[in-house]
Amino acid sequence: MNTNKAGSDAALIFGISRHRLTTDGEGVTTLVAFSGCPLRCKYCLNKASWEPDKGRLYTPETLFEEVKIDQLYFLATKGGITFGGGEPLLQVEFIKEFRELCGSQWHLLAETSLNVPFENVKTLDAVLDGYIVDIKDMNPEIYKAYTGKDNALVLSNLQWLLQHGDPNRIMVRVPHIPDFNMDDDVERSKERLEKMGVTSIDEFQYIIR
Ligand code: SF4
Repeated sequence: MNTNKAGSDAALIFGISRHRLTTDGEGVTTLVAFSGCPLRCKYCLNKASWEPDKGRLYTPETLFEEVKIDQLYFLATKGGITFGGGEPLLQVEFIKEFRELCGSQWHLLAETSLNVPFENVKTLDAVLDGYIVDIKDMNPEIYKAYTGKDNALVLSNLQWLLQHGDPNRIMVRVPHIPDFNMDDDVERSKERLEKMGVTSIDEFQYIIR
């Protein structure tokens, strides 16, 4: 998180994509992609998010002014903003301030790895309506080989979210990752997630370009 000269929290955003229909839930959404990510996934499609100087600096106010053009769609369809990246759960103050600006009727989702400090998760859970969790693979060795990081935080944060709110607000994406996991690994990930209490799983195939 950065602070601009006016003293308001500001963040680098490298992409805003409007009019996404049922991509992240039931309504019309706008994707807001923050720069900055703790992971280094081998097949990352958003490597622009790794560059510390890529993107445009927004305050919560300037972002709200830009995205509110779609307010009528959001309210009519129960849509809103999907914060992605990069890693949106690194932007705690920004998202808290944005919620104050947009009010309670916009649906705010985070597409996250959950590989962030627990305090971030706890604080933002009071602000967000739901999560799309990019779990990669539940096996720590596969996760580390693919992302360069441990997944211990991911698992403890996910467990906490499942125990402190409606599990239906969480959708977990489980990819088949060429050269990193096999069908059996994906099955094992799904089984572990279901045992933890995950109710919504999106299994899909990474396409390598
Ligand atoms: S978590 Fe997403 S943005 Fe970050 S490295 Fe992985 S694929 Fe890229």
